[in-house]
Amino acid sequence: MSRRVTVLAAAAFAAVLAGAAAPQKLGRAGQADRIFVNGRVWTGETGRPLVEALAVRGTTVLAVGTSTDIRKHSAKATDVVDLRGRFVAPGFIDSHLHLLGGSLSLEELRLDDVFAFGALAERIRHWAAAHPDAHWVTGRGWAYAAFPGALPSRAQLDAVVADRPAWLVSYDGHTGWANSMALRLASVTRETKDPPGGEVVRDEKGEPTGALKEGAMDLVGRLVPKLLPHEKERALRSGIAQAAAWGLTSVHQAGIDAEELELLVNALEAVPRLRVYVALDIERDPTPEALARQEELRRRFSGGRLRVGAVKGYVDGVVEAKTAAMFEPYPGGGTGLPNWTQEELDRAVAAYDKAGWQVMLHAIGDRGIDMALTAFERAARANGTSDRRHRVEHMEVARTTDLPRFPVAGIVASTQALFPYPNQNHLGVYVPALGPERARRAMAFKAIDDAGAVQSFGSDWPVFTAEVVRGIACAVTRTTVEGTPAGGWEPSQRLTAEAALRHFTRDAAFAEHAEKEKGTLAVGKLADFVVLSQDLLAAPPERIKDTKVLLTVLGGQETWRVKEF
Ligand SMILES: [Zn+2]
Repeated sequence: MSRRVTVLAAAAFAAVLAGAAAPQKLGRAGQADRIFVNGRVWTGETGRPLVEALAVRGTTVLAVGTSTDIRKHSAKATDVVDLRGRFVAPGFIDSHLHLLGGSLSLEELRLDDVFAFGALAERIRHWAAAHPDAHWVTGRGWAYAAFPGALPSRAQLDAVVADRPAWLVSYDGHTGWANSMALRLASVTRETKDPPGGEVVRDEKGEPTGALKEGAMDLVGRLVPKLLPHEKERALRSGIAQAAAWGLTSVHQAGIDAEELELLVNALEAVPRLRVYVALDIERDPTPEALARQEELRRRFSGGRLRVGAVKGYVDGVVEAKTAAMFEPYPGGGTGLPNWTQEELDRAVAAYDKAGWQVMLHAIGDRGIDMALTAFERAARANGTSDRRHRVEHMEVARTTDLPRFPVAGIVASTQALFPYPNQNHLGVYVPALGPERARRAMAFKAIDDAGAVQSFGSDWPVFTAEVVRGIACAVTRTTVEGTPAGGWEPSQRLTAEAALRHFTRDAAFAEHAEKEKGTLAVGKLADFVVLSQDLLAAPPERIKDTKVLLTVLGGQETWRVKEF
């Protein structure tokens, strides 16, 4: 009897963990609510990676195995789904994104993947014509490669938008492009001084050109009308629904403020289609009061769909703006800008480590990555901790000799599968900014795996799309969707599809301390999975990009289904 109570309690607990909307009916022992048979099911489990079928009861996986075995769990009320050979994988987990920014980007003018100025202008003109009531023309995503040898100018934008202020942000979010009216409204003139950490780009006569870098972006950006909370929440709801359609069942939110956290809680209540692991913004000097405030949030969000468990900070900047911290200078000079001294970083990381937090540090340059690793290693030594799973976010240009430090100290490499996407911007701006020696060790996914590190994949949405299939395609081919460059960029760093899948499932679950509940398909784990239109493990690499997500299941509930399925 006590055993039965325990089972019921465990199931109820799982339902709470899963944030189930309705109480789950429990069938007879062994009886499934739903079975999926005749498929190719990649479980992600080392012992038994491929099976034919799985059974779901309530929010969890009841059994995996052959179709014959799984049919034994079916009773009169059981729904039987014939997969007809289709491929099933654990639900995708994106280890690094920004849900609000990503959600808003679905509605904004997007300028991604346009590298010819004419096409770029056409897209802006088209958006402006379609939105005659918008007070500003705003958008994001333009690539530096669309402006060879220079940054964009206000004159170029004036020729496209003259009737309203216009403000367009680069794809990486580090440079803004204003037209003359926007500059005038912001009172940006030749007299304007560069704000700290920013630059008003000027022509040879000292006049602002319309390009504003980093800290100077706010001069114009602050004038752009802010969305109201309900508008942001509406965007979040469609972003969550979109994520489910991409096959995502969990995501890691990389930093959040108090307002956005509340909006996200509300949006997830309205659209319960995602589990979200949240990193709060790191405090530079974590006083006991600050830690207590964050601890309160961690307590409040310790189970259910939204879970707070980490803090996130920035060690350095990005490569294209030459702000990522490097040991050797960039071509043309400068070694980047770390945001902390090593001592400050050590102090903050040790305080969070001691209080039981996981720390996620954005670090892109080799020096920035070394600083993050050093702070993590020192914190573990000082506090005697060993399983915090601190994470280096992006981790683009590590020294080869630093890779073994990840497995030794149990540090997770949180990389982005689409970051090596070899479009014109990557090959024409990113790679030259590094120079050949460093470019060879950038986004070295295979070398990271070979060093024995846990590598978890994400998107950094809205920097890149959170479409996981596109991420897997890029990690496997290192080419664009058009197949360029032939053979792939730095092809020695290509991964197998299975490794890429693992980084988006099992390893990403590990990176949020949740590998016991999800990330693979095994008895008792959450029934989070996707059904895809083709077998990722058998598809020719160049065809992976064509894979469609047919069905997404979260805790036994459908969150996305195409009509044809
Ligand atoms: Zn990010």
